[in-house]
Amino acid sequence: MFFQINLTKHFLFLFTILLISVSISCKEKPEELIIYPDVTIELCSYFQSFEKEAAKRGLIVDLRNAGIKGRLTKIHGNAVGICKQRGMKEVLIDRKFWERSSQLKKELIVFHELGHCYLNKMHDNEATPDGICQSIMRSGQGGCIDFYTQKTRAELLDKLFE
Ligand SMILES: [Zn+2]
Repeated sequence: MFFQINLTKHFLFLFTILLISVSISCKEKPEELIIYPDVTIELCSYFQSFEKEAAKRGLIVDLRNAGIKGRLTKIHGNAVGICKQRGMKEVLIDRKFWERSSQLKKELIVFHELGHCYLNKMHDNEATPDGICQSIMRSGQGGCIDFYTQKTRAELLDKLFE
């Protein structure tokens, strides 16, 4: 009997912890609850959609299992995003950039950094003859111009996950 009560208490404790972590972590769509414990709420839906877009293309991506962290911060210099490789991998996005960017622009940057952090991709500045970047893994240091739109997105993501 004592053992049983103890178990119940233990369960309740774990359940409470779970509830707390669910409420402070990602919760975009209640029906498919994906929690990324070390990812700031603003980035969660993008992490989730990175996994979804990969899955659509037959690639299983588990960012939670990979332990990739993510947060908004102040980035000095020209970059608006960084994949921090030392220690636990972490996607850092400049907060000011985030606040003034469209959803597509945010996705481009988060996916680019996850391209480094998770897919281990290097920069690729291949461009069309008129200078449009052929990959979202472009360096962003000139060379080509981004053209990431609802129309070009699917093709660019095919390339990212190939
Ligand atoms: Zn990069």
